[in-house]
Amino acid sequence: MYSTPLQMPSFARSRARVTLSALAALLGTACGGTQGSDAAAAERPLAATAADAAAEFTDSVRLDGAGGDTVRPTSVAPAATGPVTTLPPNEYGRIPIVEYHLVVDADASYAVSRERFRAELDTMYARGYRPIGLGELLDKRIDLPAGTSPVLFVFDDASPSQFRYVDEGGQLVVDPSSALGIWLDFAKDKPEWRHRGAFCLLSGAEAGRSFFGNKGIEGQETAWRFRKLAHLDSLGFELCNHTLWHARLDKYDDAFVQEQIARGELAIDSAMPGYRVRGFALPLGMWPKNRPLAWAGSWTDAKTKRMTRYAYDAVFEVAGGPARSPHDPQFNPRSLPRIPLGKGMPLFPTLRTLEKEGAGGRYVSDGDPATVAGTKQ
Ligand SMILES: [Zn+2]
Repeated sequence: MYSTPLQMPSFARSRARVTLSALAALLGTACGGTQGSDAAAAERPLAATAADAAAEFTDSVRLDGAGGDTVRPTSVAPAATGPVTTLPPNEYGRIPIVEYHLVVDADASYAVSRERFRAELDTMYARGYRPIGLGELLDKRIDLPAGTSPVLFVFDDASPSQFRYVDEGGQLVVDPSSALGIWLDFAKDKPEWRHRGAFCLLSGAEAGRSFFGNKGIEGQETAWRFRKLAHLDSLGFELCNHTLWHARLDKYDDAFVQEQIARGELAIDSAMPGYRVRGFALPLGMWPKNRPLAWAGSWTDAKTKRMTRYAYDAVFEVAGGPARSPHDPQFNPRSLPRIPLGKGMPLFPTLRTLEKEGAGGRYVSDGDPATVAGTKQ
């Protein structure tokens, strides 16, 4: 049934356009405000080497029995590869969930340039951030080397700009100018930069927002769509639902809301049978009138009588700043704030607000997944 994706009805299309620009204006204003208040924040130097940071977090040593001249740590934090921060461990700290849409020629509402995307990967890496998966966040399995910080990447709308194939002599390869291609090139000499993040998918929207492209849009074949989902999964990324065609869920009744979400879920299941979808991103950040339907519900196909249920551990908002640590008692996975990136919505000011210790500062790993370092906020 998904070989012929649904078209977004024209009335919904025009409504969505208006809302999107209105929301973008709103977000732009909010983001500008943040930028202003952060302007005075000082930048932190990075630790000179990963070994320095590991040494800093080794809390006890003992003398070796033989000769007494060998000092050996009793517990050694795994040494980080690549840049780390000099901030102390703070596993109650904040975690940026960065939100990308189109990755294209130039910045626009809900679009960043390819150069900017690459530069933001560079910036996050240089500041000691490392990608984590949604499951790792939800299950409190953030196992990062000492002195590094988690960042959760989320890509919305499943456009070809995020993941395009090019046919090279009968072989499908990831287009190096798509976001995934840029990511893979960036990560190729950095094993510590794992392929982690979530792609929140549309399966039946227009303009190729349908599992990263169909109908020849941007050179993408409909037949490649399921393969792309399996490819992302095999790399280590996670699949997240973003509805069937991006309807504003606040405008519809409960039955319609559940159909939009369930059909997105069903489409992912068609591509990846049995795949457990753990996250859902609200289109335009709009909650359904009956809010719990965002994380659990069901829909029965009138033709087949088949019922599809969905239940999500995480619901992504469209904005809201850095997220709380899963160790923070106020962590609420059913309302995860994100940092939308686009024209007028820069990343750097947000990162700067996190360059401090304690409450509101960034999550910094102590290198030991068995302990939670820092002070509850
Ligand atoms: Zn979206």
